[in-house]
Order: sequence, then structure tokens, then C-alpha cells
Amino acid sequence: METFWEKEFRCQYCGQVFYQTRIFSSAIIIESRDSDLKPNYKGVNALFYQTVTCPSCYLTLFERDFGKLNIPEEKRPAVAKVLDNAKKEFGKLNLGSDRTLEDAIKLLSIAAAVYTVLQDKRNAAEAYLKLGWLFREKGDKKEELIALGKALKFFEEHYREDITKEEEEPMILFYLGELNARLGNEREAVKWFSTLVNKYRGLSTIYVKAAMERWQEIRGR
Ligand SMILES: [Zn+2]
Repeated sequence: METFWEKEFRCQYCGQVFYQTRIFSSAIIIESRDSDLKPNYKGVNALFYQTVTCPSCYLTLFERDFGKLNIPEEKRPAVAKVLDNAKKEFGKLNLGSDRTLEDAIKLLSIAAAVYTVLQDKRNAAEAYLKLGWLFREKGDKKEELIALGKALKFFEEHYREDITKEEEEPMILFYLGELNARLGNEREAVKWFSTLVNKYRGLSTIYVKAAMERWQEIRGR
């Protein structure tokens, strides 16, 4: 069974056209999930391949945004600064099929910084959440909690200011609860878990189920 393929992209920031390694969805096997639904893969680690990076300017975004997400003219200087810093700090990036955990941490760090300067809070939250997951795999608890703290801040701001996609509300409520729980704010965690369960009890999603389990776990302590 084949694992990787090469997909063509065009960078919306500098115009570069390039190919980058993608994983066949049939090659992605989730063996288990942590309490925050972090997938643990058997075989290839799909978390390493969530982003696409322009090999020329280093623009890094989730694949769904690459070549598509509009970068407004007034945001270009701030993005340029992030990409220049990444070049200086990381040097040459490994964008191939043999990328390591360290390579993936660099790529998600760039994506998180780009979404931050774009003030795209929804995607900044997801990038920091997944960066936290990579630090968990590395065994670096300190960096994990820093990344999860940033994810929580962005989920909170996004939820307060501009939640537009209602179908995402269960996911966001779940992470408001779960990230608070992981950061030691149990009272806040219970508030968000109960909001989610009371509002979406009838909905069969992994978020409601996971929230009910976590809520009971915290109450049982
Ligand atoms: Zn580019």
C-alpha cells in the first residue's frame, strides 16, 4: 500500500508553484485518542503533514487554506516578518516524506505565527492545539502547556467575538472545557462542558460524548 503522494500547490503569497508530500487517506490509521481527542496514529504520523509550506517564502498554512486563504495587503509586512524570522531561526526545512517530530514542530510553529498575525483566531487556536500535541509526543510538558494556553486564549476570543460556523460550536465548547481542565481551571472546565452537554445533548458527536466523560471525571474527584 502506498503512503505518500506529491500534490501541486501555488503559493498565494509569493506565487511559487511546487509539489509537496501528502498522505493517502487510506494510509492514516488512528489507533487511539487522548482525552482531548489527540489522535495517536499507527504507522505514519498524520499530524506531521497537516500543513503545507512554500519552499521559497516559507508561508505555512493548513492544507485547506494553502493557495486559498486571502492575505490582505495591509497584513503582508507582518507576515513577511514572521517568514523572515522563521528562515533565520530554522534554516532549511525538511518538507519531504521523512520529516521528523522536530521538523513538524517547526512547521506548525510557523503556521501558528502566521495565523496569529493574520488575526485568524479560529485557525491560530487549532495550530497551537496541534503544536501542543507535538510537544506532548516529544515529552516536553512545559512547551505543551504553553502551546495549549495559547490555543485556549484564541478559542476564547474566537468564541466571544466571531463564531460564525454554528456546526463548529460543539468542537469549540469542548476545547474551552478540555483546555481549561488541562491547565488546572476545573471550575471553568465544568462550565464549558455543561454548556456543551446541555445545548447539544441530542447530537451524536464525539465532542458531546467526550465532554460527558470528562465532566463526570472532574466531578468524581
Ligand atoms: Zn511562497
